[in-house]
Amino acid sequence: MSDRPADAYDVAVLGAGAAGLVAATRAAECGARTVLLEKNRKPGVKILISGGTRCNVTNARGLRRIESITGPVDPGFDPKLLRGVRAIQDAFGPGGPFLGPALRRLDVDRSARLFEDEGVTLKVEANGKIFPLSDTAVDVLAALTRRLGRSGAEARYLAPAKGIARDGSSFRIDLPDGPVHARRVVLAVGGRSFPGCGTTGDGYAIAKALGHSIVEVRPALVPLKVVPEWVPTLRGLSLPDVVASVHGSTGPALAQRREAILFTHTGLSGPAILDVSRAEARRAEGDRLELRIDFHPDVPREELDRRLQAEARRGKAAVATLLSADLPHRLAECILDHCGVPRSRTGPDLSRAERVKLVGALKGLALPIAGTLGFEKAEVSSGGVALEEVDPKTMQSRLVAGLFFAGEVLDLDGLIGGYNFQAAWSTGWLAGEAAAGPA
Ligand SMILES: Cc1cc2nc3c(=O)[nH]c(=O)nc-3n(C[C@H](O)[C@H](O)[C@H](O)COP(=O)(O)OP(=O)(O)OC[C@H]3O[C@@H](n4cnc5c(N)ncnc54)[C@H](O)[C@@H]3O)c2cc1C
Repeated sequence: MSDRPADAYDVAVLGAGAAGLVAATRAAECGARTVLLEKNRKPGVKILISGGTRCNVTNARGLRRIESITGPVDPGFDPKLLRGVRAIQDAFGPGGPFLGPALRRLDVDRSARLFEDEGVTLKVEANGKIFPLSDTAVDVLAALTRRLGRSGAEARYLAPAKGIARDGSSFRIDLPDGPVHARRVVLAVGGRSFPGCGTTGDGYAIAKALGHSIVEVRPALVPLKVVPEWVPTLRGLSLPDVVASVHGSTGPALAQRREAILFTHTGLSGPAILDVSRAEARRAEGDRLELRIDFHPDVPREELDRRLQAEARRGKAAVATLLSADLPHRLAECILDHCGVPRSRTGPDLSRAERVKLVGALKGLALPIAGTLGFEKAEVSSGGVALEEVDPKTMQSRLVAGLFFAGEVLDLDGLIGGYNFQAAWSTGWLAGEAAAGPA
């Protein structure tokens, strides 16, 4: 005789975010009696604010065929960059291989179809980011909840899971208004970033209580604070194409990214900064890291030096004016200050030593990192449930039979560009199918 409570569900999915919505839908579509438990009043809060409320659903580099996208493809995007799931794995660094089976089960092409089948036409932007043609995250969430509704899964909101415990052959999920029982559980409660969205790190405590190890959780894809006080004076200034890199005291760059940056009232943000912030998230205790910015990625140092030398000789223009040909004037002045060159310096008076310093700053302005803006402003959390304790072929715990994981609660964090959602869709899909499967 079974010791399972008569009202037990086959599958309970915890968290109605990107991964949980897909996991619950898929489990129910596979025939499991499924309940989705979400602590917020509504599902997918983070989806709605993602990508500046446009929701960057995935990345075209991960496609097999560009035809999988029915909307416009920006002519600036080169279809030769298509690399299939490898491109998505690479964006996750050391966590990439773990994602292989999930990505092969629901790859980028099939993920795109999932949305297009619900009437959400997708488009590819020049940098490979895939958005809904409507530029509206609401449409992405509506597609997911429509399919969830058809799947037959039951959704319960204002249902914060306090803990999970084994209860005979099923699990007991403790909720404020009484427990829910389920044969299998998918933990998809996300990480700790943007806690206002409901993601307050509950999953780590729940997984730990069940015996799982948690890799230290830190804010990632997060704006950086830097030491020099002049940086915030440039707030609002953005540069569309620079190379940002993070360096330790020795060795090669720990992270490097060519993209846009934005000066803010606390330091630096923008896609290039968020991506290289992962190095700060992984910084060892006691290490000091430095951000470097190359303002002229296409011009070699020697060429830049030659150009500045030639321009300085010509006429009596101020050096700040010469630098302003390619940079905003305010930034040019700050770079002069940073290098100890008077703002009044004119070209002919520029010494060789000053010129060398300026060229060095233009090719690698070094700004000591003073920290990050923390979980409040981090797009994702790095760290989480240790990957070696989870079977990548099923997303099932190797320690607790019947417990599955999906999404950001795992020790996975990818680059900016739709990669994190792709991991959530794929791990959610695989976890949902596996949780619904035979014992
Ligand atoms: C501002 C911002 C913009 C972003 N933009 C993009 C983008 O454009 N493209 C991209 O790829 N990624 C983006 N990301 C990252 C992306 O949103 C996440 O990686 C993704 O949402 C993770 O999915 P998830 O399902 O694991 O977690 P989430 O989507 O965070 O969902 C977790 C859900 O679990 C619920 N929950 C938490 N605790 C409990 C509990 N105890 N009981 C029940 N429910 C619980 C939460 O309320 C939440 O609804 C962005 C993130 C932020 C913060």
